Amino acid sequence: MDLGLSNKVAVVTGGSSGIGLATAKILLTEGARVVICGRDGARLASAKAQLDAVRPDAALAETCDVLDNAAVNAFAAKVGAWSGGRVDLLVNNAGQGRASTFASTTDAQWREELELKFFSQVLPIRAFKSLLDAAPSPAIVAVNSLLSLQPEPHMVCTSAARAGVQNLLKSLAGEFAPRIRVNSIMLGLVDSGQWQRRFEARTDKARTRDQWFAALARDKHIPLGRLGAPEEPARAIVFLGSPAASYITGASLEISGGVSRSIRAPGL
Ligand code: NDP
Repeated sequence: MDLGLSNKVAVVTGGSSGIGLATAKILLTEGARVVICGRDGARLASAKAQLDAVRPDAALAETCDVLDNAAVNAFAAKVGAWSGGRVDLLVNNAGQGRASTFASTTDAQWREELELKFFSQVLPIRAFKSLLDAAPSPAIVAVNSLLSLQPEPHMVCTSAARAGVQNLLKSLAGEFAPRIRVNSIMLGLVDSGQWQRRFEARTDKARTRDQWFAALARDKHIPLGRLGAPEEPARAIVFLGSPAASYITGASLEISGGVSRSIRAPGL
């Protein structure tokens, strides 16, 4: 199947690692020109080198914190100049989770988490809206978590914020139709930078990486028996963001190895 991504322009926030980087690589192999951003310059430079190895002269990497409004606007301006004034796909992927219970979450942490989850969508969408409007069949794909439907008490503010984000995306799918499609993926557990950091911070240093991740998959009762690889959600992001998904908007695709316990109404 031709995804129709040849010569399209895609922006992936948080593209310097994990799922975002895997998405950028697949977009390049599908013929798109790709822009990534992240906060850490060294990580970004390493990612850019990897993208250049996939396809030379087809990627741009810019330092940008998606929570900094001025930086996001400046980022969009640079992308517009680089792309010739249009963006076909915006992938809002930048972010991380926060493990805390209601008892252990301070007001400042609540505010920080709500800001991260909402404004990592709001600011890039606002900044890139006119570039998306200039594309023939533009799309937004948001990376979200199954926690939005299946909250976990040890990730209380992340879960609540993610549920709100799904609600926001549904509104945007309506407001932006028929011009811009808006979809999301909802992740279970994916073996990326986040989980690598938790593995490195583990208290039980006796277990190998494979043993630690296998135990995690068992503890989380993942039917497919393992965490996902970054390429697995990345393929879904690329599909949902491509012209091949031309009749899909306001939808959400669960990518969790089957960890969801419910049958739910379709949509975001
Ligand atoms: P990684 O840590 O590997 O990647 C996160 C990326 O986001 C990095 O490139 C990071 O770069 C960037 N980033 C983080 N904060 C910002 C910011 N404020 N501005 C710009 N870039 C930022 O993790 P994943 O690939 O797993 O994460 C991708 C998305 O998937 C995240 O939103 C995460 O919350 C979500 N998710 C992941 C799950 C998993 O199991 N892996 C489960 C559920 C959701 P830098 O730090 O240099 O800025």
